[in-house]
Amino acid sequence: MKDTVMLIAFYNQKALGVRYLAEALKKNGYKVVAVFFKDFNSISPSKVSEKELQLLVELINKTEPSFIGLSVMSSLYLESVYLVNDTIKKYFNLPVVWGGVYATLFPDHALEYADYVIRGEGEEAIGELFDTLREGEDPSQMANLAYKDSSGQIVVNDVRPIVDVDELGFPSIGDLDFYSINADKIAVGDPQMGGFTYELTASRGCPYKCSYCSSINLRRIYKGKGKYMRFRSVDSVLAELNQAKKALPNLKVIHFWDEIFSNEPGWVEEFSQRYAQEIGIPFRVWGHPLMVNHRIISNLVEAGLYQIVVGIQSGSPRIRKEVFQRNESQEEIINCSRVLAECKVPKVIYDFMIHHPFESLEELKETYYLCLELEPPFELQIHGLHFLPGTDIVQMALDAGYYTYEEMNAKMYGSLEEQFNSWYWDVSSSDNIDELTCWTSMIFLTQFPALRPILKKLESNLQNNRGLKNIYRLHLIMNRMLRLRNLGQKAKLVLKP
Ligand code: SF4
Repeated sequence: MKDTVMLIAFYNQKALGVRYLAEALKKNGYKVVAVFFKDFNSISPSKVSEKELQLLVELINKTEPSFIGLSVMSSLYLESVYLVNDTIKKYFNLPVVWGGVYATLFPDHALEYADYVIRGEGEEAIGELFDTLREGEDPSQMANLAYKDSSGQIVVNDVRPIVDVDELGFPSIGDLDFYSINADKIAVGDPQMGGFTYELTASRGCPYKCSYCSSINLRRIYKGKGKYMRFRSVDSVLAELNQAKKALPNLKVIHFWDEIFSNEPGWVEEFSQRYAQEIGIPFRVWGHPLMVNHRIISNLVEAGLYQIVVGIQSGSPRIRKEVFQRNESQEEIINCSRVLAECKVPKVIYDFMIHHPFESLEELKETYYLCLELEPPFELQIHGLHFLPGTDIVQMALDAGYYTYEEMNAKMYGSLEEQFNSWYWDVSSSDNIDELTCWTSMIFLTQFPALRPILKKLESNLQNNRGLKNIYRLHLIMNRMLRLRNLGQKAKLVLKP
């Protein structure tokens, strides 16, 4: 057995990236201690406490790792990453390595804190780095590495060629050396073990290039390194799920975390047939309007698909095409909704991003009119636009003069709470019931088919600036009903024998 390595994931107890790295390091002979630091809570995201940092220090003292890796996937929780990084540096003389999407896109910023950054897919690179360091050799030529040279200059090496995802094995699950730290407590064991859900990916990459998403930035880094969008074999996916089924006694739902679920001819058919026979647990996926068709969806429903989330993002063709860089037409979106309804997917959710500076009130209304055309039943997931550092839309907003550079930085690097509040607003906290609020309410109300007959009346009142409070009140009532209905649906899934 080689040295002990500690890997820390933030606000994510499933943390697929850390679990894949843990598996790769174990295969390479390392003992891996994984820490799931803080639980994810979108309703009241909590900050890191002194007590939690102290628990981490005690754990490092107890497990004595030789290297520590921090998984920095997002700018959302950077303040927590800084605190953890500073605490490690204050009490220990250990090399700290950052990886993950944020560290990959901003190695220069990451190296203000970390000793090394591993960019891109790190399963091969992380073991190679630790091997090199423990042998006292120089890792400076290593692919995927970013570091500061002896003069303090940042050196960013190229990434290695794309690997076959089937070769990466399965993410680690159920390890005794896994810990979770949250709410001022530490728990021993994999926090996933008692859960009802299991998350996995059947692919890596996404074929689209939405301007608000980091996926295209990662694809650019891998240009010329092989095919970035890759699918696992059905054998590999089902073997992982069989392992999860054995390990998780309470497992009720599988969540495919793929950026967009596969529409590969042949793959879907084989997967669907075998999934139903070998796994037989309801599953949910993310879809894209251009990848939805009868062949795929009917196969997946037969296999056990119970929920699909499809990103539409705006009812305005201009916003979708010119701002979000999405090419689907109104007809293609409406057709997608027909297919999902005809194939009887039990739960269809359409995702929209509204209330951002690119959108006029007229364009917000276009979202309402598009929702009226979508085939029910469906639910809506409505939220704001989150400016992720490095994404194309950040520069577009700066070029358009919507924000100064300083204002944009404040948005992108605000506290966890500030970022959440600008992204997920709470409808019940609206103190200004104006046209914008009410058109948002009208969009929300389209997901209740029973209300369709009165929407025309409400719409005409709103056009004449009347009945605004009634629209808003109806929104609040239906919002509560929706929450109750969703709780009931969850309970039904979980309690199903
Ligand atoms: S389809 Fe989804 S994952 Fe793909 S680029 Fe767009 S937002 Fe990102």
